[in-house]
Amino acid sequence: MNRISHWIDGTVVESTSGRSSAVFDPATGEQSGALDLASVDEVGAAVAAAKAAFPAWRATSLSQRAEVMFRLRELVDANRKEIASLVSAEHGKVLSDAMGEVARGLENIEFACGVPQLLKGDYSEQAAGGIDVYSIRQPLGVVAGITPFNFPAMVPMWMFANALACGNTFVLKPSEKDPSVSLFLAELLAQAGLPAGCLNVVQGDKVAVDALLGHDDIAAISFVGSTPIAKYIYETGTANGKRVQALGGAKNHMLVLADADVDMAADAAVGAGYGSAGERCMAISVVLAADSIADELVTKIAERIPAIKVGPGNEADNEMGPLITEEHRDRVKGYVDAAPGEGATVVVDGRGGAERNGFFLDPTLLDHVTPEMACYRDEIFGPVLSVMRVSGYQDGIDTINANPYANGTAIFTRDGGAARQFQFDVQVGMVGVNVPVPVPVSYYSFGGWKASLFGDTHMYGPEGINFYTQAKVVTSRWPDPATSTVDLGFPETR
Ligand code: NAD
Repeated sequence: MNRISHWIDGTVVESTSGRSSAVFDPATGEQSGALDLASVDEVGAAVAAAKAAFPAWRATSLSQRAEVMFRLRELVDANRKEIASLVSAEHGKVLSDAMGEVARGLENIEFACGVPQLLKGDYSEQAAGGIDVYSIRQPLGVVAGITPFNFPAMVPMWMFANALACGNTFVLKPSEKDPSVSLFLAELLAQAGLPAGCLNVVQGDKVAVDALLGHDDIAAISFVGSTPIAKYIYETGTANGKRVQALGGAKNHMLVLADADVDMAADAAVGAGYGSAGERCMAISVVLAADSIADELVTKIAERIPAIKVGPGNEADNEMGPLITEEHRDRVKGYVDAAPGEGATVVVDGRGGAERNGFFLDPTLLDHVTPEMACYRDEIFGPVLSVMRVSGYQDGIDTINANPYANGTAIFTRDGGAARQFQFDVQVGMVGVNVPVPVPVSYYSFGGWKASLFGDTHMYGPEGINFYTQAKVVTSRWPDPATSTVDLGFPETR
């Protein structure tokens, strides 16, 4: 059995905790690995390594830190297929989708290559007589990242690229469901010239997370995962005096107005609803269809579904893989089981997929969904697309704004004025106009509103740089000592 361990102080470290958990190949349902689960002491060793590495890394020049990121960029680029295969083997997503994940993660390393420019401060000469004022941004120290199963390569890259480039050292706690890629990325960082101890990986569960939340030497925590855990991480981390950004779950709506190109909207809904088997925090979960085009749109979505090739992620041509675990697949299936009893119509029933080996469920389409139904209220996180009918723009926007989640949303229309109004009105963090999965590029920042984000800063991009640094303002003068006097007045600028 493939044993998956920690990466501490530049080397693989096997756990002595005596605890482990099973890692599966979701396409077969077979166990593929045994994951070491860290003890509190092992988390302590990782934090200690990061703490010891911090002074030298922080003192490393901006150009040298950028050089490590440039080398990492080349290594990740050269190993795209290897990384994607590792992702696919434990997550289940198809290789083409995993390649997309690597590409979007790589963008964040490319952004971090610009750290000398990103950390430039302001300088004001002669802010008062003979006095200059300037601002600098300095790293926080040891920071931690806790990541979800659905993007095991990209989300760690969202975090560690900027954190390291800014001069912090890092402890990563990946998802216990698909942990292997984190070790491969740690090896690539070492090959890129990152000194030992600057990035550490502790494998684990709640024990490891709680050890990080309670550790005095952790200055900040970045979290991505489900809303209840995000809230817990935010509340516990901030109560322990840490800076925390915790991104949570989602329920993303796509509003299709009566004037939209219905074929284009159907294509987009299918791609955004069933891509990665719906296990994306930016997946479209609910299509809000204007009444006058709703029947046509449902028909066109349903027509496209049989063409989706479902199967193991590592087989070429497959477009949708299995879900992450059997338990999760059964949970998703449970929403489809319950939907007719609540008044929804099962237009395309993918439950037959569950008969196959592995953790499969085929694409499923529900119609006539209403807000009280469980399939609408909860984040399903699977290949189940719900259609809800709305009378028009205002009904659609009211529905979206009443939902507690607010990660992503999209409008499909040919009316520029309606799209402009949507962007103005909608209370959601990331908005697409005829773009169904509007994940911001790496030089903007990623994050939702409301129950999709706890904390003040979005992730990566400029807000990522701010999150991983603290500002300092220096007021400086070099007067002739002969002019020095005692002055008890409050310093003025005029
Ligand atoms: P999860 O919340 O179950 O797990 C996330 C991390 O928290 C993992 O590392 C896990 O080990 C840890 N964790 C789980 N339970 C814990 C507990 N009780 N105490 C302490 N730590 C715990 O999420 P997941 O199932 O891995 O990922 C899917 C979820 O992540 C979905 O809700 C999805 O919407 C969300 N997500 C959000 C974003 C975003 O940017 N907003 C991005 C990706 C995924």
